[in-house]
Order: sequence, then C-alpha cells, then structure tokens
Amino acid sequence: MAAVGADAAGRPASYGEAVRASERFHVPLHPRWLLFWHDLAPAEVRALAEHVERTGRWIQGALELPADPVQHDLLARLGFLMGPTAAGGWRGEPDPSAALVGGLGLSADGARLVRRSPLDPVAEDPLDYVSRLAGVPVRARGPSRIGGRVGRPEKAYHRSMEPNVHVLFPVGSAGGPTRSVMQAAQRSGPEGVKVDLGVRSCPACGRSSVWSRCGCGVHTEPAGRTISEALPVGKIWSEALARLRLTHVPVVKGVKGLTSPGKVPEPIEKGILRASHQISVYQDGTARFDLTDLPLTHFRPNEAGISVERLRDLGYVRDWTGAPLVSGEQLLELRPQDILVARTCGDYLTRLAQFVDDELVRFYGLDPYYDVHRPEDLFGALVVALAPHTSGGVAGRIVGFTPAEACFAHPVFHAAKRRNCDGDEDSVTLLMDALLNFSRSYLPSSRGALMDKPLVLTTRLEATEVDKEAHNVDVGLRYPLEFYRAAAARRPAKEVEPIVETVGKRLGTERSLAGYGITHDTARVAAGPVRSAYRDSRSMSDMVERSIVLTSRIRAVDVAQAVTLVLNAHFLPDLMGNLKSYATQKFRCKVCGTSYRRPPLAGRCGEVRPGGGRCDGDLLATVYEGSVRKYLPLSQRLSEIDGITPYVRQRIQVIADSLASLFPGAGAQTTLDRFAPPP
Ligand SMILES: [Zn+2]
Ligand SMILES: [Zn+2]
Repeated sequence: MAAVGADAAGRPASYGEAVRASERFHVPLHPRWLLFWHDLAPAEVRALAEHVERTGRWIQGALELPADPVQHDLLARLGFLMGPTAAGGWRGEPDPSAALVGGLGLSADGARLVRRSPLDPVAEDPLDYVSRLAGVPVRARGPSRIGGRVGRPEKAYHRSMEPNVHVLFPVGSAGGPTRSVMQAAQRSGPEGVKVDLGVRSCPACGRSSVWSRCGCGVHTEPAGRTISEALPVGKIWSEALARLRLTHVPVVKGVKGLTSPGKVPEPIEKGILRASHQISVYQDGTARFDLTDLPLTHFRPNEAGISVERLRDLGYVRDWTGAPLVSGEQLLELRPQDILVARTCGDYLTRLAQFVDDELVRFYGLDPYYDVHRPEDLFGALVVALAPHTSGGVAGRIVGFTPAEACFAHPVFHAAKRRNCDGDEDSVTLLMDALLNFSRSYLPSSRGALMDKPLVLTTRLEATEVDKEAHNVDVGLRYPLEFYRAAAARRPAKEVEPIVETVGKRLGTERSLAGYGITHDTARVAAGPVRSAYRDSRSMSDMVERSIVLTSRIRAVDVAQAVTLVLNAHFLPDLMGNLKSYATQKFRCKVCGTSYRRPPLAGRCGEVRPGGGRCDGDLLATVYEGSVRKYLPLSQRLSEIDGITPYVRQRIQVIADSLASLFPGAGAQTTLDRFAPPP
C-alpha cells in the first residue's frame, strides 16, 4: 500500500490517512488505531459517545476530557491510554485519541467535537456499531485472549549437592558433620580413616592399589571387588598441598563414603583446587550451572554484551538481512549451537575455567587452556548442555551474556537435549571440565544415576533428530492474508498449518537450522523484570494473595477457575497428604534415635542399650499438627471467592471437619461440670 500519506513501511501516517486508505482499498481500519471496542456493550459505546461529544475538547492533536470515575472504567476497558492534565482532567495519547473520536462517529472542528455519524440505530454487535460510526470496517483488537500460568519461576544457579561437596573423596565420620577433609586429616592420625574403596591392579607390574595411577606410572584397572581400607588422609592431604604449592588453604568438603559401585575416589588435589575457586562438584565429577531454557532465533550484539569485532571473529559477519555487520544494534540470526547465558553463569564459568587451568598446570603439569580473566574472555568457549532426563549432552558455544536468569538458545538446540521437551531447566558446563573430570566410575549404582550425565555428546545438531515440538516453530517472514482471515473466523489451527512455514517443512534441507524469519521484532529480548515477584514472596499466603490481585486485573483470566486450579492441584492434595502422613507417622526416640512404626504401649523407648538395660527415652512425633493445618486457613479463605463451586468448598469443609475432630484443641475440651444442673 504505497499510497500518498504513508510512511516508508507503507503504513498510513495519520488516522485521516488510514480512513482514506480503508475507503480506497476496501480494507478494514489499520490496527494502529484499534481500541478494545468489542469489550464494551453497544449501549456503553453510545453512552461514552454522548459523554465525549458533550465534554471532550481537541487540544493540540489529542483529546482532553474532564476526570470522571464512571467514564474511567469504560476508557480503561477500551485500552485508551491517557495521563492527567495540569487542570486535573485527562489527556489521551495522540493515536488512541484519534481512534476514540473517530470510532465514536465524531471529528474535531477546532477544539470542538462535532458528530459525523448519527448515534442511532444502535447495532447488536459493538464492532458493527463502531464500524458504522467510524465509516470504515473496524476489526477486533484482541479477538482471542490466551491465559497461561507459570509452572515455576526462572532459575540460574550453580549446582551443588546437599550438603555441598568439592571432591568425591571419602573421609568417613572423621570429617565431622561438614565432611571437612582438613579436619579428617588432622583428627585421623597415622592409622588413617577406615573407608570402602575399590581394588585396582596394574597391568604392567601387577601390584594392586586403590588409586587410578600405579607407583610405576601406569593407569590401573578395576579388579571388580572392594575392600575396607585405612586411608592415610593426613599424609595424602599434606602431600597434595605440597604438590599444588598453594599459599592459601581453603576449606575442602569431601563425602562420607563413595556411592559408586567401583568406589573410585577422585584425587584430593581436584577438591583443593575446586574449593579455592568456589566450585562445587556434582556426582559425576563435573561442575554444573542450572538455567531455565528460553528459545531464541535472533539477537543484537548490544543485548548480548559482546562487541561487533568479537562476533565477526566468531563468524557473524552479516546480519540477518545479509548486510555486513558493523553496528551493535543490527539483528543477527543465532547460529544453532550458539547460546546466551545469564551473566551470573558467566561469572561461575569464569571461575570454573580458572579451576580447570589450575588443574591442568598444578595437577597435570600441562599448559593452561582457557586463560580467562573476566567473563567476556569466555566468548567462543565450548560448553556441554545437559537435560535432567537424558544421558546425552549437546555441544554449544557461548556468544553472549544476558541479564535474564536463563539460557537463550536455538529451539532445535533446546530440543536436542531433551527426549520430548518435558521440562524447562537444563545445565551447562565447560567442555574441558567434562573431558577432564567426568567419569562414569564416579556414578552411583542407583537407578537414574545415568540421567543428566554426559555419556554421549552430540557435536552437530540435526533438526531431523529432535522431538517434533521444535518442528512446529514457525519461521516465515510474514503470515499470509488467509492466515489472518482464518484467525478472524476462528478456524482450527490445523486448517492453517499448510500455509504457515515451519521448521518441520524444511527438514532435510539446509534451511532447517538457518535462514529463519521473524514476524515481530523487539529491541531487547530480556527487557522487563528479570526476577519474578514469585521468588520474593514472603510466604505462601502472600504469594497466593498477590497472584490473585494480579489475575483479577487480567482480562484473560477467569479468577474462580484459576483459584479452583490452585486448590485442586496444590492445596487439597497437600492437606490430604499431610493428614494421611500424620495418621500413619512414625515415632522417634529422643535419646537413641530409634524410629517406631508402632510405639510401644509403655510410651517409652524399649531399645536395648549396648551395655544392657533399656534406653527408656521419650518418644517424639515426627509429623506435627502445625504442618497438617498449615494451609487450611488459606484454603478456606480461597474457597470463599465468588464462583468457586460448592463441590470444592465442601471438599475443604470435609477436611476442616476431620482436622477439628483429630485436634479438638484446648478450647473445645469440656468437663462434666458443664452437664451438671445449675445450683
Ligand atoms: Zn604398576
Ligand atoms: Zn531410645
């Protein structure tokens, strides 16, 4: 539509131009001048039209109205943007002003508003009515509204085991409750600490050892059995410190015992170096950083905190339109294995790189690999990305940092990590950490121990090898007109699938991973709050309170339905579960810790002490009334909200009744005096 009065993109320059273009080309009014007319009843539109005609004034290209609480509601529902004037009235923004005045059948004559189209007859449908008043077809601004709820808040945090561990090295109980290796070294004395270790033998000289390297220098092999051995932790610790030549000795936390079937310990040096860089170790010997997955196809250098020069080095020589990359504001298409990670992740991976370099130099006697001093030095570094339910990692490359607490990556990259896109949070680690420190021998024998471990590594993405969900990403440059017509007619999505370009339609071609189009641009993909209010909530009731305030303001949300969902999915199962665990709870001896499925009739611990005689300790409940009742008042309050079905209300009442009979409470106790006749 390269009409007179249009801007470079073909959009009309003013409301007047838009109306003329509609008349000339027989098309509906341009969406820039749409209000939520369909949210008002025709009678409300009529009332508002009379009010604006009577009281409104057109001042310097915008509508000014006196402040009026009744009209405020209508204007807010229309999405009419306005601000206060010095005189205490309201002044609309220029575009909504033109849209409102035109849609009410008015036009400006100097400061005065004059009627162009008669108010009667009033049509049954608000859009038909407004279209007649405006003189051109006016379409719905928000024909469909989609409500969603957040599964869990965003996350960006380094992974640590509970309690935190620096090295998979056993210290038994000598390390105390913190499993401190230094404490075990000091306390154990020359006889050492008794721990279970795997037996290994040397293929060269035949000697057996518990270490991966034999005294003769050859790598040992597992003999398939374990022994209980006194480990000279003091000697190992002081020798390791001497070998590493550290000036500062950090607090190093080991493990009580090894959980892997082969019971292979890590060299203690790795833990000392990890602790000195504040790096935690995971079950498999690697360090991880967990991040929420967010898909991304395009980015700007400036929002990724990376220079144009560095990006050109990494292969980004052209922007997404094919123009040479010269400015930080040009839009680039993200390469399928490139990722943008949270800045906090960049900080952690910087320390991890420094640990790996220290390990290479001080422990293995090799050259450093990363040589990083600040997070930006990691641009171009390779990582392994892993998902919790697969045992395959995907190789990626860091090309930027984001203020969002997330990992931005290509949709096919996220899909490649997962079996069926069943979650939203994965981890990354530096490739060299995985190559150097990962071992299957450290993994516990428990089921599921192979999950989330880099047993295999995908080095090259293939769109054909990922789950179908990523094939549904639409990659066209624009939606065809038929798409909008089908949407306006509310046709099923399946009907328009053939006319929308998706990744699935490009499978088998080189455009399956690149050459993606976008339909809507944004200046900063991480704009907005980077930390959801959910994480700052003080308590569950505060959280629920705040989310109800929010949902009641969002037109897409049915508050009663949202509350019912929370009650049915969280509070009711929680209450019932706690009630059941209270009724079937165990009792524990306060003195010796023995737990009782059924407490002895005496009500005291009957365990025989090592020296003879009974323990006789007090028995304590393990589930308390408070934990059962915890969410009852909140659930009861929620069930009072208008629109909650009697069924849900009564379910909560039934639980409240059983709790009242289970815990009668002091106030409910009665004595026989109550039934005595008055004196
Ligand atoms: Zn040997
Ligand atoms: Zn006892």
